[in-house]
Amino acid sequence: MPYPNERAGFFAVRDLERRQIIEAFGGQLEQGSNLPRDPLPAFEPFRQTNNLRSTVVALDGSSIYHRIPARLPATEAGVISISIVQINVDQLANLSQLPESGAIDPVQLRSTEDGRTLQRALPGRNARSVDGKMSRDWFRSSVQEVLETAHFGGETLAETLHALLGNTNTQRTIKCPNIHCKSKPATPSLGQMRSRCKKCDSEIFLSDALRAQEIFSDEEPCGDAHGRIRHALEILCLMNLLRGLAKIKNGQAALGKIAFVLDGPLAAFSTIAVLQSGILRELRRIEELLSPNHLLVMSAVKTGAFVQHFSELDEAPEPDSRIPLGTAFLPDNDYIREKIVPGTTDQPWGRTTYFGRPLVVKTYDGQRLFLNLAQPEADPPLTDAPFPVVLNEAITIAEHLGIGHHEFLPLRRAHAKAAIPLQMGKAIIESLARAK
Ligand SMILES: [Zn+2]
Repeated sequence: MPYPNERAGFFAVRDLERRQIIEAFGGQLEQGSNLPRDPLPAFEPFRQTNNLRSTVVALDGSSIYHRIPARLPATEAGVISISIVQINVDQLANLSQLPESGAIDPVQLRSTEDGRTLQRALPGRNARSVDGKMSRDWFRSSVQEVLETAHFGGETLAETLHALLGNTNTQRTIKCPNIHCKSKPATPSLGQMRSRCKKCDSEIFLSDALRAQEIFSDEEPCGDAHGRIRHALEILCLMNLLRGLAKIKNGQAALGKIAFVLDGPLAAFSTIAVLQSGILRELRRIEELLSPNHLLVMSAVKTGAFVQHFSELDEAPEPDSRIPLGTAFLPDNDYIREKIVPGTTDQPWGRTTYFGRPLVVKTYDGQRLFLNLAQPEADPPLTDAPFPVVLNEAITIAEHLGIGHHEFLPLRRAHAKAAIPLQMGKAIIESLARAK
């Protein structure tokens, strides 16, 4: 039997030993070898503009993915929502004096007759339909159905997808959805919604061009496939609205008065990167139609390598205090490659995925905002382009509304209040075309 204090004494000895080991290591460690603090890049003062855009249209998607209880094998499903919220900027500025709903335009944007929110259920792994569709095919046909039916008063999302994919000369090929077939059929040509694999005769949907089905499997949860469709739908909704407005004269005038704000990077990653070149082309086309006005599309990014980098850079040594107030910085390709996202190829950062460029803003009241800003007047790579024409306008709006700041509650509240059904017959395009 040990004495009552023996064990403690033993640990005390071990603790001493450990301390000695650490001290010995510390003695060997080169002192003062911490990296010198990065110099602050050229943050330049920005100029606030007086003419704020009258309307902000915020677009945001969300998805949930769940197991359906008490089913074997594991059966799952998800719901995708896309919200489009129209915010009157003047009203928003006075939000603190208004009741919660006063910030939005409820008349134009209230849900349609049955009050559905904008939601669409999608099958997950092992979910089979009553008419005998296996999970993956059911998932594919559900996505196709959304594309063929959803619109905002103009063309359908499927037509928008066609426009982004380009004309028949640049048809995209995919893996045949029949997993036993090794051929690579083309997706349906312009004007067609469906086609057939020439080898096995399986039906090919236009939505197959997004290739989310390639990561859909009954072996594991399919939240990633759902997430990819959600992201594609956000982009398609934005481009659908822009194209719809650009088609009508009032719409073109309105586009010069609206700021479009998305959540997350202005980019299309992975298989949906197939949309990126079409998005750049369409933004450029619409920008030229609006002349002398300009298209303003930006997004708020709240997580990731850029946010982390500028947060660290802003420590001096107190958090959030080093970057001067009222300044902004547009990192170029060299800066991004050297400090934030090292590249494995010579390709400029974001060349095949991004349709906006990174922008860091320190507002006059000390908020650090990280934004992406589309620059349709410039040729890619955008990170090497001169200052965007809407730079000061975008910064002023972001500062005014707190876009990009995690405490920006008005947009969230608006989001929660004004989700719009995706399958609406409502003509949002027409309502936006009246933006004053
Ligand atoms: Zn086939």
